[in-house]
Amino acid sequence: MKKHAIIPIFVSHEGCPFDCTFCNQKKITAHSAPLDDNEIKNTIEEWLSTLTKMNLETIEIAFFGGSFTGIPLRKQCEFLQVAKTYKDKGLVQKLHISTRPDYINDKILTNLKKYGVDVIELGVQSFDDEVLELAGRGYKHDIVYGACELIKSYGFELGIQLMIGLPGDSLEKCIYSAKETVKINPDVARLYPLVVIKDTKLYYDYLSNAFKPIELEESILRTKEMYKLLGGAGINIIRVGLKSSDIIKEDGDIAVGTFHPAFRQLVEGDIAYDIIINELEEKINAMSNNLVDVEVFSNNQSISNAVGNASRNKNRLSKAYPMINFYFKIDNSLNKNEYAVNITEI
Ligand code: SF4
Repeated sequence: MKKHAIIPIFVSHEGCPFDCTFCNQKKITAHSAPLDDNEIKNTIEEWLSTLTKMNLETIEIAFFGGSFTGIPLRKQCEFLQVAKTYKDKGLVQKLHISTRPDYINDKILTNLKKYGVDVIELGVQSFDDEVLELAGRGYKHDIVYGACELIKSYGFELGIQLMIGLPGDSLEKCIYSAKETVKINPDVARLYPLVVIKDTKLYYDYLSNAFKPIELEESILRTKEMYKLLGGAGINIIRVGLKSSDIIKEDGDIAVGTFHPAFRQLVEGDIAYDIIINELEEKINAMSNNLVDVEVFSNNQSISNAVGNASRNKNRLSKAYPMINFYFKIDNSLNKNEYAVNITEI
């Protein structure tokens, strides 16, 4: 049963002075009417008409897209006032905004506090200055630490978003970004493998062969290593992989990149695969006979990760060990994401 739901309000950033290479905000703002109070109210009402029947513990209104604290303060106040009305009435429990690390200061945070904002997510994207520069982000990584500290000192919940596969990025840089995030210890994190959206600078770089996105397998590998570091540190990873509705208004806007509708499962499945294969190899090495049946156990929440998306793990195991029969079974005495292997010689 779902306990938590988010009502997403998309705030495009009109007049954003930056030109991040992966961002299509300018296209969106050029082709859509500016957001207004009525639209926010209608969106919230529409979502609430369904969500209030679902017996949820928390409903959150989240202003996504663009950089919320970069829009004029008067507009921020107008938008927040609409959302606050629903929080004051107890119809929603949390307010959430996302913004850039360099759009955080005392004045901004005091105002967000006044309107009852609970969660601030920063689109950090990378802790590597070369990656940030090539992405046109307009700040260096050192600004992130102060922004995060200030957000925490005001008592907000902190979120950090990281991207995987931007130009100049690498596995090592992704791991570094994850380690720096662990040091900051945010409440939540999101991992977004890069997708190249039409009408962005990256799209034109891709068309002219100036940029080649990483392959899906590389993207899964990098994300997996980051996931293990963040998850191992107890950081709640609330999203892995982009949901098309997060930033993309029309179908067909994704041109290229590592978009996969079940990206999180691919990553979690690969983590499961590593655990299973380690345990399996240890046990098989201790055996004399190669002809075996193998039972792979997981609890009912993790069985799909054990088998893998579209039987990815099952197929890989069968390919790596063609003489072995694999059986995936549920054992609810195991914890979530815990896997056990039992071998029977035949
Ligand atoms: S990602 Fe944010 S800061 Fe960068 S261009 Fe888009 S709206 Fe502006």
